[in-house]
Amino acid sequence: METLVQEHSMTIGLSGNPNCGKTTMFNALTGSHQHVGNWPGVTVVTKMGHARVGSGATSQEVDIVDLPGTYSLTAYSEEEKAARNFLINTRPAAVIDVMNADALERNLYLAVQILELGVPLVLALNMMDEVRKHGKDIDTALLTKLTGCPAIETVARSGKGKQELLDAAFLLAKDRNGRWDPLVISYGPDLDPVLAEMEAIITKAGELVGQVPPRWVGIKILEGDESIINRCREANPEVAARLEALVAKVSEHLGRTLRASPDAIIADYRYGYITGIARQVVRYPKVDAERIRLSDRMDQVLTHQLAGPLVMALVIYLVYILTFKAGALPMEMVQDAFAWLGKTAEAAMPDGLLRSLVVSGVIAGVGGVLGFVPLIMIMFFLISALEDSGYVARMAYMLDRVFRIFGLHGTSVLPFIVAGGIAGGCAVPGVMATRALRSPKEKLATLLVTPFMTCGAKVPVFLMLAAAFFPGSEAGVMSLVTLTAWVAALLVAKLLRSTVVKGESTPFVMELPPYRMPTLSGLCIHTWERSWDYMRKAGTTILAISVLLWAAMTFPGLPADRATAFDAREAAVQEQIDAAKAQGQEASALEEALKQVGADRSEEALKASAAGRAGVALESVSHLAGFNWRVNIALVGGLAAKEVIVSTLGTAYSLGEIDTEDAEPLSRLMAADPSFPRSAALALIIFVILYAPCSVTIVTMARESSWKWAVFAMTFNTSLAFVAAVAVFQTARLFS
Ligand code: GDP
Ligand code: MG
Repeated sequence: METLVQEHSMTIGLSGNPNCGKTTMFNALTGSHQHVGNWPGVTVVTKMGHARVGSGATSQEVDIVDLPGTYSLTAYSEEEKAARNFLINTRPAAVIDVMNADALERNLYLAVQILELGVPLVLALNMMDEVRKHGKDIDTALLTKLTGCPAIETVARSGKGKQELLDAAFLLAKDRNGRWDPLVISYGPDLDPVLAEMEAIITKAGELVGQVPPRWVGIKILEGDESIINRCREANPEVAARLEALVAKVSEHLGRTLRASPDAIIADYRYGYITGIARQVVRYPKVDAERIRLSDRMDQVLTHQLAGPLVMALVIYLVYILTFKAGALPMEMVQDAFAWLGKTAEAAMPDGLLRSLVVSGVIAGVGGVLGFVPLIMIMFFLISALEDSGYVARMAYMLDRVFRIFGLHGTSVLPFIVAGGIAGGCAVPGVMATRALRSPKEKLATLLVTPFMTCGAKVPVFLMLAAAFFPGSEAGVMSLVTLTAWVAALLVAKLLRSTVVKGESTPFVMELPPYRMPTLSGLCIHTWERSWDYMRKAGTTILAISVLLWAAMTFPGLPADRATAFDAREAAVQEQIDAAKAQGQEASALEEALKQVGADRSEEALKASAAGRAGVALESVSHLAGFNWRVNIALVGGLAAKEVIVSTLGTAYSLGEIDTEDAEPLSRLMAADPSFPRSAALALIIFVILYAPCSVTIVTMARESSWKWAVFAMTFNTSLAFVAAVAVFQTARLFS
């Protein structure tokens, strides 16, 4: 940083949470006088600028440094590290903390941490226009008194208050003249004495971590801050060991008495301090009190022990019915449009690889995904309405007790339902819906098990198998499949949460915001954002994958001698047909035979393709679960998109392309296949419920977590599915 800051002039830092209006304020303060650089050692971009304070002869130029937006000063992220190192190493003359005053409590968390460091701080109560619009009021004078920092009301967007802000920072800097004056918060009867002892040791030992307050170093060590602990160890190993011994002792005591770690206690007290300030300083409008009363009355019914769950079931059922009823027609229209497009392309292009690529690869693949857009838009619209009204928070509240047992959170129910908790959803928006979960661990666990749900693309697979092997009990099979999916999701979540995704569960903050009427424009924006995300993928990921899959099922194709043999057979039958026709005889049996040759040819070509060979090779393992090579190809295809399973089975069972809606002929063929008994069908159902999510889901999971977890989902789910399928197949075989 030093190189960016001019030696002679005064430096003022600009801190704040992300989205508090910091950049807007920076621009308002510095105008066009800014330049961009990098924080030394990290990849965080920083901006520098300057501004003028005072007027006439006493006016002075000050440097303004835009710190990265952070919520706190722990050193968990690059941004936090950069912000902290700037404060400690550069020691700015003052810092302006830009706060979204509309969310004062959350924003005070950072301010308090800067104050604990002792940095001269000015509070910019930004977004005051929003505060007023919401009918709230902030007692700025009282805030100044409680925190000891000048608090200035600003609206960065219009530049209101910016000069007062700058002047206040300048005055404070002059007044303090480089002196740090740390805020002291009590951390309770257990930690306060330890902190005092640590402070004494650190003061005596001299500087361990640059010119920072000794008590602050103590707090950081108690919080388990690695970088500070390491700096202490380097500076003075003997003192560091004494400090760490103190921490270990109090940690052990806290663990025994309060079942908490020092950093949790510190966070609790810090929040307590902040809540205390916010409660005194912010005044809420009267109308809100009335709305809250109405809201409470509604909650007496909507979250009632008995009525609550009933209403919830009804609401979920309605969302489901409305989505599929209202979505049926537009969905059919989109699918018809793509069918028409496919037919038109087929008619317009000469037979060959290119036509096959365009029709089967591009149009069918992308169309399969875009066909769901109407459903998704309607479902998201309804779910946004539930969210914006505040009802989803109630659902989460009611389900939390059950989900908690499995290491999940009440909010996990939303992704489950979206992904097909009620058969017919889609795992892609389901995975996206995990954003509502605040704890990263719970989000991860939810995200990993969400794809077990019965998405709309899996439904035809189950329906087809039910029709083939359990005729007359389709509804029962579907209900069992749904139930199995939920049980599997909860059990696997429990397994993950006690092994690879270990971590404390977040307490369910009983934060039930008052109900509010959703606005139409808000709903439309939410719906559009989510749907667009989904559509964009159809044009990118899905397109690429369906082309790849098409290639795998097309190349290398029949060997030349087999192709010639089929050509000859076809020509021979055609000749017979022509001859029969010339004599005016009936040729339908022969035409049937010609079709059969064509079907044989496509089956053999498929078996010779890369995907076909993989299917055959996999038989050596998959026979344990009762899957033959045809099923294997379909399952490999299902990795791209689950829709592919039924259509690939159709191709593999020599039917050419079959319509997924009309699965009857395939189910009869499968039921008649001696190499595919009922026990194998059961195993296949289990396998399809559990195995790797489809490619779009995988990409979405990677974007929501990381590729590591996306790959984990693929391998873990498939292994689990295989083990379960083998168990089911082998057991069912004993009884049949
Ligand atoms: P940063 O992430 O802290 O840099 O925030 P930005 O400066 O990018 O601002 C985030 C959003 O808040 C932008 O849309 C700004 O236009 C808006 N914004 C900034 N200051 C104010 C303000 O005082 N009032 C209102 N209503 N909006 C503001
Ligand atoms: Mg910014």
